[in-house]
Amino acid sequence: MYTYCLECEWQASTVDADADTDAAVSKSAIEHFVETGHTVESVRLPPPEVVLES
Ligand SMILES: [Zn+2]
Repeated sequence: MYTYCLECEWQASTVDADADTDAAVSKSAIEHFVETGHTVESVRLPPPEVVLES
């Protein structure tokens, strides 16, 4: 999961070492909303084992 703020540069994703689960990312997104009142969008990333061919 990848989440980002529509109103500032805040973001969190499961790629980050300190937020490596969807639950942790969701929790930090909620905390950002509670602290700032900013709108946070979330995007579900494909599973890491899936490699898209371009
Ligand atoms: Zn923000």
